[in-house]
Formats: sequence, C-alpha cells, structure tokens
Amino acid sequence: MTVSIHFLGANRQVTGSKHLLKINDKRILLECGMVQGPRRLADRLNRELPEALGRVDAVVLSHAHIDHSGSLPRLVRMGYSGPIHCTEATADLLGILLPDSAHIQKADARYLKKRGKSFQPAYDIQDVEDTLALLQTHAYRQSFEVLPGVRVTFLEAGHILGSAQVMVEVEDGDKPLRIAFTGDLGRKGIPVLRDPDPLPACDVLITESTYGDRRHPPRDVLEQQLLEFFQDETCLRGRILIPAYSVGRTQNVLWYLGRMIAAGQIEPIPIYIDSPLSTKATRIVNRHKDLYDREAREYLESGRNPFFFEGVRYIADVEESKALNKLTRGIIISASGMCEGGRILHHLEQTVGRENDCILIVGFMAEGTLGRKLLERYDYVKIFGERHLVRCRVRHIDGLSAHADYQEMLDHFAPIATQVEQAFIVHGEESASMRFADRMIDAGFRSVEVPLYKEEFVLGT
Ligand SMILES: [Zn+2]
Repeated sequence: MTVSIHFLGANRQVTGSKHLLKINDKRILLECGMVQGPRRLADRLNRELPEALGRVDAVVLSHAHIDHSGSLPRLVRMGYSGPIHCTEATADLLGILLPDSAHIQKADARYLKKRGKSFQPAYDIQDVEDTLALLQTHAYRQSFEVLPGVRVTFLEAGHILGSAQVMVEVEDGDKPLRIAFTGDLGRKGIPVLRDPDPLPACDVLITESTYGDRRHPPRDVLEQQLLEFFQDETCLRGRILIPAYSVGRTQNVLWYLGRMIAAGQIEPIPIYIDSPLSTKATRIVNRHKDLYDREAREYLESGRNPFFFEGVRYIADVEESKALNKLTRGIIISASGMCEGGRILHHLEQTVGRENDCILIVGFMAEGTLGRKLLERYDYVKIFGERHLVRCRVRHIDGLSAHADYQEMLDHFAPIATQVEQAFIVHGEESASMRFADRMIDAGFRSVEVPLYKEEFVLGT
C-alpha cells in the first residue's frame, strides 16, 4: 500500500488550507480553504485550484472557517460531486458562511465594475447550494468509513463551535496507519466550548502553527483587563465600538460582558450586535447547547443565557443600523473583524472623529488592514475613500484568541510525541512554523517537516 500527502495550501502561511491524502489510487482532501490576502494573488489562487484537485474521492473538513472551507464551492464548480464529511455544527455554520462568501464576491464584482475594473467571482450562490447538498454530518468520537479501508473520527478541537481534530486510520495488514490532523487547535478554557480532546497515539501528525512562536496571557489576566476596561469611566462616556468576527469572537465578547453584568461587576450598558451574519452565527451557537462545556451548562442552569440577556439587541435591518449613529452611549459589536468590510465601516466612519467614543480591538489585525492602522494609532485613516482624522480612543485587549499558543500545543502533543514517526507543520507564517518545528524537535519528535506549497511526502514505510 502507498500512502502520501500532497500539501496544496496554508504552507508557510495561514490561509487556503488544502491537504490531499493519497491512498493507493484514492484521494481524500482534508480542508478546502480560501486564500485570503493581497487581492490579485488571492483571487487567482481561489479561481485556479491546484490541478491535483481535479480528481478527489472524498472531502473531510475540520471546521467551518472560510480559510478552511471557502473554496469548497469552487471545487464543486470544477465537478466534484462526492461527500463532504463534517460535524453537524460545522454544517450549520457552513450554511451561513458559504452563502455570505458568495454574496461578498458578487458585491465586490459589482463595485469593481463600476470603477472600471474586472473581478471574476470564484463561485456563485448556486455553487454554494450544490456544495451544501453534499455535506454528510457525523457525531464526535464516532468513527465512520470514508472509503473502503479508511476510517475517520472527529475529536473535539475547542476552536469554534463544531471544530474537530481529525483522526484518519488506513487499514494496512495487522497495523493500521494512523494519521492525526489538528485542524485549528483551540485552547482550554475558551468560553462555552469544550476543551480539546486528547489525541490518541498516531504515526503521522499534521499540525497547525498559527501561534507557533507566541504565548497568550492567561485567562485571569484577560478577564482582569476586560473588567478594567469596562469599569473605566472615560471609556463608558461615549460609544464603544468592537470589531469582531461573526463566528467565535462575537459570542466570546458577549459571554464575558454577560458574566460581568450578571456578577454586578459592571453597570448594565446597552449592547447592540450589528451584523446579520453575527446574529445568525449566535443563533446557531445558541442552538447547539449539547456542545457546551460544563461552565456554560451551569450558567444556563442558573437561568441565564450567555447570548440573549437583558440589554442585548440584535440589529436586523439597515435603518435600525443607521439609527445607531445617534447613539451616545452603548456598545456596538459588529463585523468584519479586521474592519475590511461590512457594517463596521459605517460605524467607524461615525466614530473615529468623536472624542468620547472608543474602539476596542480584541482580535488579530493583519498588516495593511484598517484595523491594523487604528491599532497603530494612525492620525488619519481612509474609510470609503474619505480621509478621517482619528480623534476617538483606541484600546487593545489581547488574549481572546481561539488558537492554542506554542506551549498549549506542545502540552497537547506531549503524551504522543515520541510515538509519532512523521510530523508536518502547516497553517502558520513561515517564521512561526519554523520556530515551532525547533520546539517540537526539542519536545522529542523524531522527524518534523515544514512543507513547501505543492510538496509531497510518502507516509509510513
Ligand atoms: Zn479556524
């Protein structure tokens, strides 16, 4: 039997995850993520998927984030019609994230056309519908057959709702080849989510490395920072604008706010969730209470809901959203997370010039984004092509990340490190992946590779 892995995305970078497992003449694709980043290159890569993906027999998906799932409709447009295996919550989230991605591409194409530029979307809403029809859902910790002789088990990853670590077992005589893929690995103690399941022994490990060279502050430090911020009178004088991703970060911020208000630590303050996608995502998280950790379940049993509590309003239509311009005091949580599109831009346009308002940055801001410019305290920023003087306050709170840091990953792998024959590091900036490779070797791994784009390796012996 010949097994190999062909790395086709998120190699020495963080987006566009695609890892093709070849077992004899069969092919299983782990992830089919969209490339995000400098526009022209990303658009081309998202339209022209690697040739090797011309024939795939099954797709296995770790979680719903677009950088892991966003190219599935393109794959389907290219002719893929096999199953796409994922957890039930992942399927629910794909049902809102993939249509949103198609809508954004359509809107971008229209906008660029007006400016005399052309942009060809990678797919449309029909491709998305065709993709959603191929989803096959599975419970955690229950193995299922993907292809004859190949079984997969989803284990909790603790990263976002529905996220899984993927165990692949390939039958081979007496001893199966066991391949573990972390997907995006979460952390212990992320609000609402269960902690990552321990990994069973395996022969091959494929791991992410987003924070391969960084550590996060502990949760009690984060909670203290949030408390100090929301107790600070100068911040509460005006509006507080929080750019946040629709899936994960929005719910985490709500969780902390609700707990602080319920404990009487901060004054009740009106909270507006102004993003249709965030509203839908929060409803999905609210529906999957079966996936909550003990802390969240106890919170529910005490008669409280972490996302729907007094003072929180979910803004539905554009008129209501516009009415928030008149708001003088309150919290607005809106998308997108890096201030690159969506309703947050309209709020920023209003906010940046107001001395009493405050922007609270709680996520990673990539270089070149408006969020990064605000974080770096630029005097002027451009919003909708207009130059604005930044007069509002900008504060930054770190530590809400849903990715394990390097020490958390090493602790997670410690029980299996010496048994792994081959380890591969993906999904990290080059420097983070390389630093993490050194750390894995120090931790007892025998062979650690940081694959290049399109590099292929034979697995097992
Ligand atoms: Zn993710």
